[in-house]
Order: sequence, then C-alpha cells, then structure tokens
Amino acid sequence: MSQKSAELKAQGVDVINLSVGEPDFPTPDHIKQAAKEAIDQNFTFYTAVAGYPSLRKAISEKLARENGVNYTPDQIVVGTGAKQELCNVILATINPGDEVIIPTPAWVSYVEMVKLAEGRVVEVPASIEQDFKITPAQLRAAITPATRMLLLCTPSNPTGSVYTPEELQALVDVLVDFPNIMVMADEIYEHINFGGKLRSLGSYPEIADRVIIINGVSKAYAMTGWRIGYCAAPLPIAKAVNKLQGQYTSGTSSIAQKAAEAAYTGSQECVEAMRQAFERRRDLVVSLAREIPGLKVNEPQGAFYLFPEVSAFIGKKYGDKVIASSGDLALYLLDRAHVATVDGDAFCAPGYIRLSYATSDDNIREALRRIREALSELQ
Ligand code: PLP
Repeated sequence: MSQKSAELKAQGVDVINLSVGEPDFPTPDHIKQAAKEAIDQNFTFYTAVAGYPSLRKAISEKLARENGVNYTPDQIVVGTGAKQELCNVILATINPGDEVIIPTPAWVSYVEMVKLAEGRVVEVPASIEQDFKITPAQLRAAITPATRMLLLCTPSNPTGSVYTPEELQALVDVLVDFPNIMVMADEIYEHINFGGKLRSLGSYPEIADRVIIINGVSKAYAMTGWRIGYCAAPLPIAKAVNKLQGQYTSGTSSIAQKAAEAAYTGSQECVEAMRQAFERRRDLVVSLAREIPGLKVNEPQGAFYLFPEVSAFIGKKYGDKVIASSGDLALYLLDRAHVATVDGDAFCAPGYIRLSYATSDDNIREALRRIREALSELQ
C-alpha cells in the first residue's frame, strides 16, 4: 500500500496516507539538542553491545519509576528499535517446534519472527465483538506442552485495544499454572493510552521472573527514525540477546543512544502533549467513522489506530469489479478515494482495515469524507 500510494503521489495524485505507523510530530527539541551535543562531545565510537551503561541505567530507572518493575541495567539490552529486540529475544529463546501464542489481530512482524526461529505460531483470534482482547479461557485452551511463550501487545497495533489491569490479572492467573511459559510484553505504545494508568505485565509478582518487556522511544517521543528500543529480561535471556546482537549488529548508534538518554531523563511534558493530541484525534476519527453506514467501529483506548470491521462491503461491486476481500477494499479506497489504509490480512485479521490517525485533523476529516463517499458507491 505504501508503495502504491507513493507511486500515485509521484504522479501528482493527492493521496491521504492513513497507512503510517509513526507519530507525525517531529522529535522534541531538547532531544535533538542532546544528539547535537553528543556529536560535538565525540560520542562517536563503538558503544557497549547492550548500549551505554548510562542509557541502560536511565531505562532501569524509568521502568522502576513509571512501571513499578525492577530490571537492573545488566538485564537491559538496547538495540536498533524495539523490532530488533523482539526478534533477538525470539531467536534467543525459541527452538524449532516451540509454540508461541500470539493473540490476533497482531502486528505484522511477530509471525514472521517466530517463523525465522522455526517456531510455531499459535494464533488466538479476538474479534471486534470482544474488543480485540483474548479471554483467559482462550489463553488456557491455546496452551499445549510445546508452548514456550505468550507474546502480548498492549496498547495494540493494529487495534488500539488496551488490556485493563484486571484483564491482565485474569491472564496472569492462567499463566501461574504454567511456569515454563515466558511472557513477552510489547509495551511500545505504553504512553499513547486514553483510559488512565496502564499496568505493565512485568509488575505482576506471580510471573515477574519470566516477563520480557519490550519498549523504546519510537512512539512515545516521536523518534522512529532514531532506531532505539530495548528489551528488559531475566538475566540469562538478556545475556543471550547480548551475545547474539554482538555478532550481527553490535551496539546501536551512539548519537541516537545519547538522544534516547535525554528522552528518558528529561521533561516528560512532550509525551503528554502528544498523547492529548492523539486522544483528540481518536475522538474525531471514531465519531466520523461511526457515521459511515456498514463500518463496524469500536472505541480504541490507545495507540493511534482504528481497526473497523468491513465485511459488509465484501462481495459488493464497483462497476463490474467485485470487492472479494478486505485487501480489495483497501485497494479500492486507494484508487477511488485516494486514501491509503492497510488491509487487515497483514495483521492476521481479514475482514478489517487499519486506519492510522497519526495525521492532522484536516487530513482525518477529508480522508473519512472520501472513504464515506467511495463506500457509498459500492453496490
Ligand atoms: N511493536 C509494535 C507493536 C509496533 O507497532 C512497532 C512499530 O511499528 C514496533 C514494535 C517496532 O518499533 P521500533 O520502531 O522501536 O522498532
């Protein structure tokens, strides 16, 4: 979709891109300033594989302060985005045939990372009717003797759903019966939440010694291009990740690490300002989408995505063309409305599309107007 929308843009077509997975804000000034100073102060040499000790200390303190979890700096490995650390942990812990439970809809890369490790993905689907959140009974039913890991993303990409502390506790109560299952908590959208205080999966004492937290600066501080993320893990896993990373990328960019350190130790006002902007846009996109006949819409509590169910349009026609799937619908919206979205298939959830509202209010209004018009033309 990104490629097709870039092609259309290059032809001069006014495409509104709702397919992006990143904040539309620039990185805050004090963070950029820290990077400039890092260059001038010659933070230009290789760093420790796991990252500068000062950055890992700042992350350890952040985890204690904001999440109430205890991971010492040597349990933290910083790498090239949360993505690298997710993949590192999977490669370091999953053996061929090991099962990884992934609630779906799920972020595109999880499944592919597990395949890379020759593990087996066990999808646990949760539809819009259950607000895209799995139940404890579903989790229990998915567990087999081969289950090695649960990979949970909250707030979620692509659905924006957020598990409440009580819902997490109910899942933890199941996991207590299976002490060999690791839990990887992808908390990269932690700060973009609209329902009040989140609870980290690492803060449940019953399972704390087997929780791996994934997080980073990409979404909270609008730093996607800086490529800084981390895992906080039980020591043997952190050591294995360190070893792996040492052989294929080494430590990530020294300058970006210094910028991330400023993000964690500096004022957090920018995080709250961006969160408020996303919440306002969430309200806007939900109210406009609810006015479109045929779209089934919930109210996401975090991240910056809306994940409407679109099955009412599958089987409809435009001229002699049949919309046979949500993929066809996403292409139709691009061709006809010039709005780029992402097909739910990419997230193991056919029958849905993902709209990112990390864009201006004007773009959101115009995009939803175009979508409404294009959908009304289907017969
Ligand atoms: N996890 C989820 C759920 C994401 O949506 C993304 C990025 O889109 C990542 C991880 C990766 O983030 P990073 O930019 O830190 O690699």
